[in-house]
Amino acid sequence: MRNGITHLYIPGPTNIPEAVRQAMNVPMQDMRAADFGELTKPLFEGVRKVFKAEAGRVFLFPSSGSGAWEAAMTNTLSPGDRVLMASYGQFSQLWVQMAASLGLQVECLEVPWGEGVPLEAYEQRLKADRSHAIKAVFVTHNETATGVTSDVAGVRAALDAAGHPALLFVDGVSSIGSIDFRQDDWGVDLAVAGSQKGFMLPAGLSLIGVSDKALEASKGATLRRCYFDFADMAKMNAEGFFPYTPPTQLFHGLKASLALLFEEGLDQVFARHARLAEGVRRGVAAWGLELCAAHPRWYSDTVSAVRVPAGVDAREVIRLGYQRYRTSFGSGLGPLAGKVFRIGHLGDLNEVMCLAALASAEMALLDAGADLEAGSGVAAAQAWYREAAAQQVRLA
Ligand code: PLP
Repeated sequence: MRNGITHLYIPGPTNIPEAVRQAMNVPMQDMRAADFGELTKPLFEGVRKVFKAEAGRVFLFPSSGSGAWEAAMTNTLSPGDRVLMASYGQFSQLWVQMAASLGLQVECLEVPWGEGVPLEAYEQRLKADRSHAIKAVFVTHNETATGVTSDVAGVRAALDAAGHPALLFVDGVSSIGSIDFRQDDWGVDLAVAGSQKGFMLPAGLSLIGVSDKALEASKGATLRRCYFDFADMAKMNAEGFFPYTPPTQLFHGLKASLALLFEEGLDQVFARHARLAEGVRRGVAAWGLELCAAHPRWYSDTVSAVRVPAGVDAREVIRLGYQRYRTSFGSGLGPLAGKVFRIGHLGDLNEVMCLAALASAEMALLDAGADLEAGSGVAAAQAWYREAAAQQVRLA
């Protein structure tokens, strides 16, 4: 007999709000029916608002976020194209590998994990590229493996300072919908998101914001593509249809999750993530532990990667958290295996849920042999949440 719920604090998939779960519990419907566009067309408009993209268009593909990585590249680039990327965590690294395996000529800057996109090095490299051989520049906005948020506007500024015409690709899988993102303002040409993070849905839908410049580039791009072809999708989407069987239930879920995001207000959603994340960070500091993020300017409001003390294996913390306290934490990926555990704090979450995460992590850390004061992390976060709540009440 298992009482209560199993607690999910991995940085995606995230908790699905009850209203979204209920919204997906609908009979199957005809995806070629004349009124299908009544469901899908408003979704495109809603997703645009979240991406802050009035120009260009958005696509919804039935895939996880990795499919959108591939769609973005294969639709706009050609074999042998030179691209500027940086590896500073598991996900930015995997994007680099995908780019190489698709036949792009990748210039990858290696950055210590815990730091963000290297703005100065990007600017230098772009300024040196006078012949504009580099066709695209990549940023992982929120590196989920390390809990690092990078400065996308800074990359746009680097491109502009160099007068460089390369396309700007952004992985916003664990940022869009939770952390401020501005596709138009930041001149992002291809922005990639996945349904299972800030959109609070099951995995299975990827979302891509595509600028007019990227749509133009797609006309001459020759990387091989078929399933993910923008042109096929655009043609069918014009009437609200899809080139193949779309995941209708996810569309109903997306309709509900967009409604929740807009009801709360995007600015309030971002402020809530910032407030919750700060409580988690204060808890971690009270334990005397450090984050993987090497500087506050990189702190992520959606995930914190916590370095365990010497002599403690983070895998053990995760195992004990799950087996004894039915709490899932994210594992350390790649070289961070055993060194960090990650607390996901994005999506449908509130203060007390974050306190539960800290309470459970505290017990698991103690059980795994960490020397810290029981209750210290929870107390520090409580103090912050109370202070923030009082502040909000005063502001209201
Ligand atoms: N990019 C980032 C930043 C991610 O966090 C993830 C998954 O966690 C991905 C890409 C890959 O997305 P998916 O697992 O949905 O394919």
